[in-house]
Amino acid sequence: MVIVMSDVATDAHLSAVVQRVADAGGEAFVSRGVSRTIVGLVGDDELFATLNFEALPGVAQVMRITTPYKLVSRQHHPQMTTVYVGKSKIPIGPEFFTLIAGPCAVETPEQTLAAAQLAQAAGATIIRGGAYKPRTSPYAFQGLGEAGLKILADVRDKVGLPVITEVVDASDVELVASYTDMLQVGTRNMQNFALLQEVGRAKKPVMLKRGMSSSIEEWLMAAEYIAQRGNLDIVLCERGIRTFEDATRNTLDISAVPVAHSLSHLPVIVDPSHSGGRRDLVLPLTRAAIAVGADGVIIDMHPQPEKALCDGPQALTHQDVDELRDVVTKFPPLLGRKLASVAN
Ligand code: PEP
Ligand code: MN
Repeated sequence: MVIVMSDVATDAHLSAVVQRVADAGGEAFVSRGVSRTIVGLVGDDELFATLNFEALPGVAQVMRITTPYKLVSRQHHPQMTTVYVGKSKIPIGPEFFTLIAGPCAVETPEQTLAAAQLAQAAGATIIRGGAYKPRTSPYAFQGLGEAGLKILADVRDKVGLPVITEVVDASDVELVASYTDMLQVGTRNMQNFALLQEVGRAKKPVMLKRGMSSSIEEWLMAAEYIAQRGNLDIVLCERGIRTFEDATRNTLDISAVPVAHSLSHLPVIVDPSHSGGRRDLVLPLTRAAIAVGADGVIIDMHPQPEKALCDGPQALTHQDVDELRDVVTKFPPLLGRKLASVAN
């Protein structure tokens, strides 16, 4: 059950709701959004239904939600959400198409700046770059850690665009959040519930990648863990799933975009780099993402992919900038969207 407080509800009204839930042996999770406060109830829904929350002062609406995820469901919140990133408030939502791009991993200050400049030239308004790399092999480059976060923050100041970076451990969330504008939870951590709860307490938007073997419902329940802790600024990212097909690194589940949009009000973006795993597929998959209604894409770029410490074969480079810019400026307007820019 979800209780929506009215615009004029006071702290005392909210406490009375929370108290009534506690008296019934339940737990209340309060999410304070910009325009409204929502209370998610955990416990016996049948009992809650008898408690007449509607009659309490300050309560605008009581909703019984039938899906196992509630705060992120469209049943609860029919209009689509726009998430704003960084000081320049770059939007990710239904009116826009947002290009996030940059290196897979932060390697050096020069490489990260050069990759960010390629991204910016292609029309990106958020820069990606991993400092903590969750690698399948323990012998692969694991990222620069805090030194990488410093490089990324410096590049943000130089190019004037917000940055997103991955956090892999719950105990690092505070540190990573102090450097970045948006937190990334990767496919391998989609069901790391301690991490989800910690990013749910952070005051930064979160991009949640779909687990490579997770259903859409499991993905939305993972998002619910973040929302339940009070952070409703969540962007979902479809990054390909495991199938029998081995021509590509993963199989981009393009239908996940409209399915997730029909079930959740959260923005959905696509990662054409990690799904295909091949440079030649990035632009075709980007066009597919735009056509299917994605709210953006996140793309690997590198000034010298042949020297990349991570995922070089899927990185776009200098030769691809003009075509990528063409795709993201020409196609979204055909579907009534504009490319997200710093001026929005
Ligand atoms: C990444 O974006 O750098 C990454 C590791 O992606 P994924 O979690 O989708 O594999
Ligand atoms: Mn990668």
